[in-house]
This record gives sequence, C-alpha cells and structure tokens, in this order.
Amino acid sequence: MNGQMGSWHGQRGAPGSDQGQGQGFDGWVPDDVRGKLTRDAPLSRLVWFKSGGAADWLFEPADLDDLTGFLAQLDEGTPVMALGLGSNLIVRDGGVPGVVVRLGKPFATVEVRRDSVLECGGGASGILVSSTARDAGIAGLAFLRGIPGTVGGFVRMNGGAYDREVADVLVDCDVVLPGGELVTLPAADLGYSYRHSRLPEGAIVVAARFKGEPGDPAEIGAEMDRIAAAREESQPLRSKTGGSTFKNPPGDKAWRLVDAAGCRGLKVGGAQVSEKHANFLINTGDATSADIETLGEEVRRRVAESQGVTLEWEIQRVGRW
Ligand SMILES: Cc1cc2nc3c(=O)[nH]c(=O)nc-3n(C[C@H](O)[C@H](O)[C@H](O)COP(=O)(O)OP(=O)(O)OC[C@H]3O[C@@H](n4cnc5c(N)ncnc54)[C@H](O)[C@@H]3O)c2cc1C
Repeated sequence: MNGQMGSWHGQRGAPGSDQGQGQGFDGWVPDDVRGKLTRDAPLSRLVWFKSGGAADWLFEPADLDDLTGFLAQLDEGTPVMALGLGSNLIVRDGGVPGVVVRLGKPFATVEVRRDSVLECGGGASGILVSSTARDAGIAGLAFLRGIPGTVGGFVRMNGGAYDREVADVLVDCDVVLPGGELVTLPAADLGYSYRHSRLPEGAIVVAARFKGEPGDPAEIGAEMDRIAAAREESQPLRSKTGGSTFKNPPGDKAWRLVDAAGCRGLKVGGAQVSEKHANFLINTGDATSADIETLGEEVRRRVAESQGVTLEWEIQRVGRW
C-alpha cells in the first residue's frame, strides 16, 4: 500500500495470464484522477470478439499527466496492460488482473509535422492516421487504412499489410513505463521482427511519429480505396473477430495451412474458423473466450499433425481462464 488515498478492491489475482499478470497486486489503486476509473469493468464490449471477462480496474486517463500521475502512485508489481480497440485480443473469461489502461479521445490526435512526419497520439486509429497523411500529401502510410487498431497497438504489434509494416515508418515513440516514467524510444530500440516488438511489458505507447514521403493525395486516396475494397472482399469485417489468428510461418501462409488441415468452418461452442478467411476465428454469437482459444489450439494441433508446422499465435491472449 503506498498512501492513504485510493480504492480497495480486495484480494484477487489467480495466476494464468500470458500478459498483464504481475506479482503482488493487492487490489489498491489511487483514485485521485481526472479521467475515468471503473472497478470490475467488462471488457467484452471494448474488444472485437465481444467476449471475455472484466478488468479489475479500467482507467481512461484525461491526459498524459493524469496517466503518469496515476501510474507513479501504483504499487510496484501491479499488473498494467494497455488496451487499444481490442482488434487483436482474446480477453479470457476470468478477466484481467490489475489495471487496464485505455487511451480514448484525448490521445486520438494526428498532427502534420515537417518532412512528411505525422505526430500521432497512441489512441489514434489507422483510418485517422492514413487519411490525415493522404490529405497532407504524405505517401507510405496508406497500409494503415486496412488495420483496424490504434497507434499504440500498431507500435506494439508491428502491424503491417501489403509488404509494409510499422517498423518501416516509425521514427520514435513516447512510452509511459509502469512506474509512470515517460521516455522516448527510437524505433531501433524496439527490437522489431514480424508482428513483434520488444516493448517492455506494461509500457503504454502514448504517442508515435511516423515518417512517409511526399505524394499525390489523389493517388494515395486511390490506393486507400483499393485497400478498403480488397479487405471487404477477403475478410469477415463485420464479424466479431480478432484479425489474423496465427503468424504466417516463413515462406508460407497461415490460412493455407489451416485450410489444408481441413479446419475451414471448424467449430467449438460458439466459435468458428471463418468460412471467408481461414486464418480468422469468429464469434458466431455467444462464444466464450474459452471457446475461441480452444478452437485456436485445436487448429494448431491439427495443422501440426497433418502439415508438420507449429503455428504461432498472433492474437494476444490475456487474463485469467
Ligand atoms: C478485421 C481485422 C483485420 C486486421 N488486419 C490486420 C492487418 O492487416 N495487419 C495487422 O498487422 N493486423 C491486423 N489486424 C490486427 C490488429 O488490428 C492489429 O494487431 C492492431 O495493431 C491492434 O491494435 P489495437 O489498438 O486494436 O490493439 P489491441 O488489440 O487492443 O491490443 C493488441 C496488443 O497491443 C497492446 N497495446 C494496445 N494499445 C497499446 C498502447 N497504447 N501501448 C502499448 N501497447 C498497446 C495490447 O496490450 C496488446 O498486447 C486485424 C484485425 C481485424 C479485426
């Protein structure tokens, strides 16, 4: 306990999450905040799969100072996890221990800087970033049009499409560490590889600078339209889903292997492998997160058995079973 002010939430913290699980969280969080702090906040409405449990605490900071002040007061070891638009996330049914931080409107900003650089808040969407780039005549960021997440999620996941990824365009990012310290990390320090970064656990990306090159707004707009149309045709965009489930193994496509293993359309409870795109899982109605994750594991098992390839999860799975 690190002060008199604050809220008590009792003993929690069963083990079992891949992410956001720290040691020693006793339920206390400071409550002298200007943003919104919610106890036992259901996360299902905030993620694309529309499944899963509640966060012990959900914090939606009013601004950067609110966030750093809050984190600085947290007990060491309190689990902290950032949430974007939940477009690459399975939140397990037992909920997420500790604090989930969601950057809302105050962080959904994009400003044009010199030399084809965009200064983006961590909560800005791919559509906002790419359309601001188009309007400013900045080419090279159109690929973000098709990725339905936030800047923070892109930086963490090294989001990419059409042979481009965040590592190609990121100059640097501002990150708040779990203790509340604000640091600027150049892209080279993020240890980027395919759909992976070495961003420290619990770190929250609050801003990022992306660099493109001068381009013609009409051409960039046409490219964005092509991307949107291609997505519409090939992905279950109006379903409750989590994007690509597995990383493409070197030299192959995850969807091809899932298909070859006979898993297209496979079901577990309310979860199903998409008929439209075999590397997407969908919640057909009232799937639990356990249904979705179990289905994913069954697909991995069948692919390993029949194709000899062990697929690696791209979707982040967080929280308690
Ligand atoms: C229909 C569909 C299509 C998709 N297509 C693509 C694609 O083409 N390419 C691609 O790369 N991805 C794709 N995705 C996956 C997803 O959009 C990306 O992974 C995106 O980067 C996730 O962003 P998010 O903000 O929604 O993050 P979330 O799903 O909320 O979180 C994902 C991870 O990022 C972390 N995170 C989120 N915000 C922050 C932050 N501010 N600071 C630090 N960490 C943070 C979370 O803790 C978690 O570990 C698709 C998803 C869907 C549903």
